[in-house]
Amino acid sequence: MHVELLAYTQRNPALTVESVATIGDLGAIWQGKADYPENVVEFAGRVCYRSTHRMGAAADFIADRVREGHEDIIEHLVVTLRITDSLEPLRWRLLNRHCEVSELGSGAWLVSGNTRVWLDFFRRGVALEAVPILRTLAPGIFAEYAGAADISPIAGAAPLFDEAALAVLAPYEQGPMRVTLLGYTQPLLADPELALHHGAATFFFEGISRTCTHQLVRHRLASFSQESQRYVDLSKGGWKAIVPPAVAEHPQAMAELDEFWRIAEEKYAALRKMGIRKEDARFLLPNAAETRIVATMNFAAWSHFLWLRAVDKAAQWEIRAMGQAVLRMLHTLSPDVFAEHWRVYQEQFIQEA
Ligand SMILES: Cc1cc2nc3c(=O)[nH]c(=O)nc-3n(C[C@H](O)[C@H](O)[C@H](O)COP(=O)(O)OP(=O)(O)OC[C@H]3O[C@@H](n4cnc5c(N)ncnc54)[C@H](O)[C@@H]3O)c2cc1C
Repeated sequence: MHVELLAYTQRNPALTVESVATIGDLGAIWQGKADYPENVVEFAGRVCYRSTHRMGAAADFIADRVREGHEDIIEHLVVTLRITDSLEPLRWRLLNRHCEVSELGSGAWLVSGNTRVWLDFFRRGVALEAVPILRTLAPGIFAEYAGAADISPIAGAAPLFDEAALAVLAPYEQGPMRVTLLGYTQPLLADPELALHHGAATFFFEGISRTCTHQLVRHRLASFSQESQRYVDLSKGGWKAIVPPAVAEHPQAMAELDEFWRIAEEKYAALRKMGIRKEDARFLLPNAAETRIVATMNFAAWSHFLWLRAVDKAAQWEIRAMGQAVLRMLHTLSPDVFAEHWRVYQEQFIQEA
C-alpha cells in the first residue's frame, strides 16, 4: 500500500495574529504549542472548559484529553490521503462509518477522516502505513505512536483569496452572535461529488443560545465541542441571556425576561453556595443561556444543514442567521459546491428584501 497526503485542515487565512488579537479570545489560538491544526484541537478542548487563556500552558493537553476519553476534540482536524496499490480501503468505511472513501480507479482511493477516525484505524491495526503522516501532522493526538518515524515537515497549501474574499472570511458579528471560520480543508478535486465529500470546515459559534445549539447538534454527521455547563460555573462563564428580537422590541416582554434571568442567576448562585455541584445547579438554566460551540462537518453535511437552516424560511431566526453567516463563508471558500444554496439564498432573502 502506498500512502500520500493530499490535504488537511488549514487555518482560515483571514485569521491572522493581528486581525483576531482583540476579538474575544480568538487570539489564544496562536498560543498553542503546536502548528495550527493541533492548536485548533486544543482550542476546541479549551472552549469546553473555558480555559482558552491557558492555551499552550499544559504540555500534554491533547494527549491527556485523548487518554481520558474526551475524544470529540480530535474530530476537528480532517486529513485526506490518497491510497494506491491496495484494496484495503474497501473495508475501512465498514470499520468506521465516519470516514469518506471514494474509489478513483486503477487501485487508487481517496480517504478522508478526522484524526479520531485515523486513531481508531491505527488502534485496530489498520492503515498503519499512514502513521508517519498523521504523527507528523498531529504529534499530540498520536502520542501513543511516538516511536514511529516522522516524515519531513509538511507545508500547508497556500490558499489564494483576494481582499474581498478575506473580508467575508473574517469573523462575522450580528448582535451577540459571532461566527468564526477556524479552518477548512479542500483537496483540489475537479469532480464536484468528490469535492462535496472530501472538503470540510470548522466553525466557532459564540453569543448564541442553548436553543440554537440544541438544533445544531441534532445534525448527526458532525463533530461538536461545546462549553460545558457541568464544568464551567455560570459566574465564570459570564453567560448572558440571548434575547429574541420579538422580546427585545416589546418593553413589557423584555422586563419579564430580565426579571426571569435575574432570578435564574440568583437561584443558581444560591444553590452553588449551598455546595450543590455545577452539574446539578445547571438544571435551573433556561434555553436562553448563552453558549459557545466548535462544529466541524464535511461539505456534504454542511450542505444539508444549509438547506434546512439557512435558506429555508421555516428555519428559526437564530439558527437561520447563523446558517446564513456559514453560507456566506462556505460559498466564498467553495463557490461551485455551494452555488445552488447561494442562488436560493439570493432569491429568497436578498432580492426579496
Ligand atoms: C423546520 C424544522 C422543524 C423541526 N422540528 C422538529 C421537532 O419538532 N422535533 C424534533 O425532534 N426535531 C425537529 N427538527 C429536527 C429534524 O427532525 C432533524 O433532527 C434535524 O434537522 C437534523 O437533520 P436530519 O435528521 O435531516 O439530518 P442530519 O442528522 O444532519 O443527517 C444528514 C442526513 O444523514 C442521514 N441520516 C443521518 N442519520 C440517520 C439515521 N439514523 N437514519 C437514517 N438516515 C440518517 C439522513 O439522510 C439525513 O438527512 C426540525 C427541523 C427543522 C428544520
